[in-house]
Amino acid sequence: MTEILPLRCGTIRAPANAMEVGGPGDLVLPVYAYLITHPTGRMMLYDAGLALTDDGRTISKVFHSDLPEGHDLAARLVAAGVDPARIEGVVASHSHFDHVGGVSLVPNARIFLHQHEELRDLDAGHDLVRTNERLDLFGDGSVEVFATPGHTSGHQSLRVWREGGADVLAGDACYFCRSLDRDDADQPYAFDKVQYLETKRRLVQMRADGDFIIPGHDDSFLDNIPKGSAVRASALSRL
Ligand SMILES: [Zn+2]
Repeated sequence: MTEILPLRCGTIRAPANAMEVGGPGDLVLPVYAYLITHPTGRMMLYDAGLALTDDGRTISKVFHSDLPEGHDLAARLVAAGVDPARIEGVVASHSHFDHVGGVSLVPNARIFLHQHEELRDLDAGHDLVRTNERLDLFGDGSVEVFATPGHTSGHQSLRVWREGGADVLAGDACYFCRSLDRDDADQPYAFDKVQYLETKRRLVQMRADGDFIIPGHDDSFLDNIPKGSAVRASALSRL
């Protein structure tokens, strides 16, 4: 069966009230790339984590970010026994720096970006595939990319079907596990709050229907992986 390996690729530090209406203090948020391995051996990623500039600093337009040695996407893939050159595609949830920074580390990957998403922080040196409402990623119905607008205009999520439901990589359609438990537009800087809320309600319904929703910046999902899930957490999923 298809497997999902969460790869923790750095952290960002942000004022809590920039991430969540009413949040106090500062938050340190994990940043993830997810390796998706199809039963045929084909490999894709959902997001790519943070990147370092040539002078060794993390690229961060807004917040302080931190990418310790050995935590960038290429190092994480190698530690997982995967040659980065084998990655054939990166599905970008959206084009913010903490989601597409690492694409330069997977030289042969095509980038799947929704047609409504601006290029923003995306490295230009890759083939770009513009996606629509839905994409059957491997052509066999096992993994679906689907539009989840709101955080940005072209945000997209990914689900891996399995018995009894799906594992859903929500990206920034949902920052935290707890985001789905509150009924408001909890992201202060969502591009379109009406769309954001509509998307969140779809995710809440998916959860009610048995799907496992994996949020963009909250590692507590690692403690709640359900039986039968495609998610294979490892030491590479943690600090
Ligand atoms: Zn993010």
